Amino acid sequence: MREGIPERIPQRVDYQRYTDQGVTLDGVISLQEAQKDLVRFNDSIIENTGDIKYQLVFDRDLLGNRIVTGEVAAEVILQCQRCMDNFKLDLNCHVSIAFVQNDFEQQQAEDFQYDIFWLKKKELFDPRVLIEDELLLALPQIPMHPESEIGQGCDVIVKFLDEDEVSKQDKASSNEDVEDRTGISQSEQNDEDNPFAILKQLKK
Ligand SMILES: [Zn+2]
Repeated sequence: MREGIPERIPQRVDYQRYTDQGVTLDGVISLQEAQKDLVRFNDSIIENTGDIKYQLVFDRDLLGNRIVTGEVAAEVILQCQRCMDNFKLDLNCHVSIAFVQNDFEQQQAEDFQYDIFWLKKKELFDPRVLIEDELLLALPQIPMHPESEIGQGCDVIVKFLDEDEVSKQDKASSNEDVEDRTGISQSEQNDEDNPFAILKQLKK
């Protein structure tokens, strides 16, 4: 390996040997590699703005759990579901997993608060799968600008409906109710069930 060129992440790792030897993988997955190899992650974001950095330390703990600890970091662009503009988010994942092959190992690993990574006997481990899983877990379920940016760009907080729209919506949701919940009369629906009731009260 020539100096200055980062080593490519290995794709087929003998995790027993790596954990026995205490191997550390430290490097980056380039944008191009991520687009090709981390498809699930790539599909979940608007774009990835740079390299994905990782440091993964393979080890065995005192009880013999075969573990990987470390960090994965990336900067991504997501679409804010409040204002529909894109925004930048740093993903910083703390990795702490144990490889397990059976229920006993799973139990032992969970007792020590590791996340579980299932592998079959003799199965080779692809670190990119772990990195991708960690990044996916770190993504917000509903991406939104941070609270601090509300009012500066991300200013569509709640769209208050005017009275006409409220009553139209009321009718629409009541009709749905009648259809969906046959046998339950409209009068049984009280204001607490009606998400627009609170808007009406606020308008008073
Ligand atoms: Zn926003």
